[in-house]
Amino acid sequence: MENEYFPLVDAQVLAEFSNLDAKDSDPLSPTNIDHFRHNHPNFVPDNFWTAQHSTEDSPEPRYFWKIAQQYVQDAWKEYFPLKTSVRLIAFGPREVVAAYQQAVMFLTLNRWRAKFCLRCGSRFVAVSPKSIYCGDACFHVARKDSKKAWWTEHGPQWRNKRTKSKRSK
Ligand SMILES: [Zn+2]
Repeated sequence: MENEYFPLVDAQVLAEFSNLDAKDSDPLSPTNIDHFRHNHPNFVPDNFWTAQHSTEDSPEPRYFWKIAQQYVQDAWKEYFPLKTSVRLIAFGPREVVAAYQQAVMFLTLNRWRAKFCLRCGSRFVAVSPKSIYCGDACFHVARKDSKKAWWTEHGPQWRNKRTKSKRSK
């Protein structure tokens, strides 16, 4: 269990990486790039943020992190198929083992953990096979929503019954 802990955290950081939004300018937001770099230095090699590269499917040069993110997003959709995972791992510099590579490896070996949140749709790493939300926030909102939905559906009936039973007292 103990040696499973760290890769799980790395895998969660990989989910954060995959959810980064270049247009998010709020430095406190988890999908902001500067926020991520500050919190997870060296998760991906430093030149991922500064160097650009063109690929076969996109001749227009893009930042390394953008290309890697695309691969991660593709991998997530298909529960980390071997081919995409190998590609991702090989994408980094040789001889240096970056945390993101270990995270990719971990998710390739634990494919079921790569999930999309049922409420907000962001990618997250499941702690148990039953996990369906990315975190407590979504869990609580979803629970509130389902209570609200229940209330909309059954509320009038329930209220009716209550007033009736009050009256009969
Ligand atoms: Zn969520």
